[in-house]
Amino acid sequence: MIFIKRRTIAFCLLLLFLAATALLCLSYQTVYAVTVNGEPLLYIKSEKEGKMILDHYLDENKKVYGDSVNFKQDVSLERCFRRSDMEFSEVEQGQKKLQKATELEMEAAVIVIDGEDTVAVKDESTATEVLGEAREEDEAPADNAEILSEGFREEVEIEEKVLDVDAVVAETDAVDTLTGGEEPKLCWEVVYEYTRTLEIEAQIEYVDDDTLAYGTTKEISPGKNGVEEQTIHAVQDQNGNWEESVVSSRVVEPAENQVIARGTGPVFADVSEQIVLGQTEVPISGRITATFGSSGAYWSNRHTGLDIAAAAGTPVRVVSPGTVISAEWSGSYGNMVTVDHGNGISTRYAHLSSISVAVGDTLAFGDVLGLCGSTGNATGDHLHLEVLINGECHNPEEFFNISM
Ligand SMILES: [Zn+2]
Repeated sequence: MIFIKRRTIAFCLLLLFLAATALLCLSYQTVYAVTVNGEPLLYIKSEKEGKMILDHYLDENKKVYGDSVNFKQDVSLERCFRRSDMEFSEVEQGQKKLQKATELEMEAAVIVIDGEDTVAVKDESTATEVLGEAREEDEAPADNAEILSEGFREEVEIEEKVLDVDAVVAETDAVDTLTGGEEPKLCWEVVYEYTRTLEIEAQIEYVDDDTLAYGTTKEISPGKNGVEEQTIHAVQDQNGNWEESVVSSRVVEPAENQVIARGTGPVFADVSEQIVLGQTEVPISGRITATFGSSGAYWSNRHTGLDIAAAAGTPVRVVSPGTVISAEWSGSYGNMVTVDHGNGISTRYAHLSSISVAVGDTLAFGDVLGLCGSTGNATGDHLHLEVLINGECHNPEEFFNISM
C-alpha cells in the first residue's frame, strides 16, 4: 500500500515536472510581431511591449491630429513562434520602424466650394470657424445702409472625409487658402439697401411767341429742380467696386419746368415800324415790282427776294444794324452787299450800281451801303432785297410793314 503510494507520488511528481517544463518551453517559444498589411514589420518579445509600441505611437499622434487618427495600413499585433533568425526590437526602436513603414489618416472636415474639395481641417467646428473668418464685411456704401442679405457668392459645403494627415491644414492656413492670393476662393457678398435723394433737374419748355422777334428768347418762368428719393441695392464686386441698382424711386417734390418764350415774330420788329416799304427811304424809296416766290422769265426758280424799282443812283439803306460780310460782284446778282444781323439772320442787297461799304464795316439802321442800279441779271434799275435765316431765303414782307 505504502509502496503503491510512493510510486504514485513519484509518477505525479514526474507529470508535474513534465508539465512545468512544457509550459516553460511554450512561453519561451511565443513572441509577437507587429504586422503591416499582413507582413511582419518587427518582432518583440512580449505582448506588453507590442502594445506599448502601437498605443504610444497612436496616442502621440492623437495629441496632434485628434482622436480619429489611425493607420492608413492594416496594422496589428500578432502572436508567433520564435525562430532563430528573428531580431527583436526595443520599444523606441519599434516606434521608429512603425513611423517609417506606415502612414496616418484621420477623419477631416473638407470645405467644398462649388463642388470642389478646397481645403481640409481637423473637424467640422474648425471648418465652421474658418468659414467665419473668411467672411469679409465691407464698409457700408452709405450711412443709412442696412444689410438686406449676405452669404458666400460660391456654394459652400462641409463634408466629413477620411484623409491623409498631411492633407489636413491648420485653421490659419485654411483661412489663407480661402481668402489670400490674387483670386480668393471665397467671396462674402453683402447686399445693402439704402435710400438717397436726388435732384430732378428742371426741364426747359419753349413756347412760341409772335410778339418776340425771330431768334430771340425771353424767360417766363425760372423753373425749379425737384427731389426724388431712390431705393438702392448695392453689392461690391470682386474688385471692390460697388454695383448699384435702383430698385424703386418716388418723386418727393416734382420739378417745375423753366418756361422760355421763343420769338416767331418779325425779325426786325424793333425797327419795322419805321420801315414802310414804298414810302420810307429804308431800304429805298420805290415801288414793289416783284414779290417773293413769284415766277418769271428771269428767275430760274421762284423769286428769292423782293424787287423795289427806283431810279439809278438812289441810296440803298440797311434795314437793321449789322456787319457787312460780303461786298462784291456776285454773278447774276451784280454788285451785292450782304449784312449779318446776328441770330442767323442776314440781308442781301443786289444789282447795285456801286458799293459804298467794305467787309467788316458795322452799319447802323438806315446807313447807306450803295446805290440803286441794274448790274447783273436785271431788266431795269431796282433793288433786289433778300432776307435769309440760317442761309434760307424768307419772304421779306414778313419782316416789314408793307404799304403800297
Ligand atoms: Zn429780284
